[in-house]
Amino acid sequence: MPLAAVTEEAGVRTLVPEAYTALKDQQFFKPTQSTCYAITVLTATACNLGCSYCFQNLGLPAEGSYAPPRIRTAVLTSDLVDKIAAFVERQMRRFALTESSLLLFGGEPLLNPLGAMQMLRALQPLNMVSAEIITNGVLLTPPLAAKLAAAGLRRVQITFDGARPDHDRIRVTRNGRGTYDAILRNIAAAAQDTDLTWHFRVNISHHNVEGLEDLVDDLGRAMPPGRASLHLALIDDVGFGYVNNVGYTARVADRFIALHNRAIEHGMTIPVSKPLTACPYCSVFGGDAGAVINADGQLYSCWKTAGRDEWSVGDITSGYLPPDKIRPRWVACGYDIKSHGTSEQARAFFDRVDAAALDSMYARRSACLGAKS
Ligand code: SF4
Repeated sequence: MPLAAVTEEAGVRTLVPEAYTALKDQQFFKPTQSTCYAITVLTATACNLGCSYCFQNLGLPAEGSYAPPRIRTAVLTSDLVDKIAAFVERQMRRFALTESSLLLFGGEPLLNPLGAMQMLRALQPLNMVSAEIITNGVLLTPPLAAKLAAAGLRRVQITFDGARPDHDRIRVTRNGRGTYDAILRNIAAAAQDTDLTWHFRVNISHHNVEGLEDLVDDLGRAMPPGRASLHLALIDDVGFGYVNNVGYTARVADRFIALHNRAIEHGMTIPVSKPLTACPYCSVFGGDAGAVINADGQLYSCWKTAGRDEWSVGDITSGYLPPDKIRPRWVACGYDIKSHGTSEQARAFFDRVDAAALDSMYARRSACLGAKS
């Protein structure tokens, strides 16, 4: 909505009547009931990269090493794929849900491409309405992207750690080689060969906050307009000391807005912040709306705890453990993250950044429609 949709009086912000009526007419305030059971499946817990901030690391890498210690290795087998599909079918029947959605995750899910494709095919008969992969993109060659798309994949999410020099220092292989060019080459070719849509996450810290315009331009050139979205995110310290000096300040908000505007000019979209309650895995206790499933069949409430035995809340064969057992292990998004500012600072930051992105996308859309007519 445009900024003019809100008025402020004595520090209290309210929607103007026209905006309220428009939203009400579009059923915006009507609670919606999800009909979809959502699963995240880790097809492989190992990774070909050694990002030192990865929440699946067990500590920082040793001095001079690019291979931080990671969670236990597990690989999804064909047998487990069938058991996961049977588990999803049982959950859908139990909660009267009619659709399923799949997110392929790792480690690096493409270290097990067969498992990824089998999982996609196994969920097709369960009315799979959404299928996405979060990959680092290094192994996503155009022929593999085409096979995944044929198996039902619709969207790819890839993370960058800044423009080429920064990305190649931070997002390295486990023997220290840069990955920027390989990823960019893969996504440009795969975008030509398939109709997949793309979501780029850019992790931001004081190590890479300068020079991001080059990354946005490279992505804009690699992607046909209208096929990609961009999410700028501050890197979190999840407990082992990855320091990020960038916080929710007005200066950083200006930087985000300028980068968003550049991406919008390239034909990308900017998703606005989601409320935490939207998470299908952690927001409903006991796995009624969705599940995070490790490559060994163990169940978790969150991506961040997946693969750590002490956080398991059940398994796909026996189902969830009793409520008193899983309650202490049921964690929600962001449970272990050190904040980048106070909640007021975060709110002011996202209000400003989100509103500016919506205004820019609205203006560009109006300009495009005007040019066509
Ligand atoms: S590519 Fe992803 S899974 Fe692999 S080390 Fe980096 S953040 Fe972790």
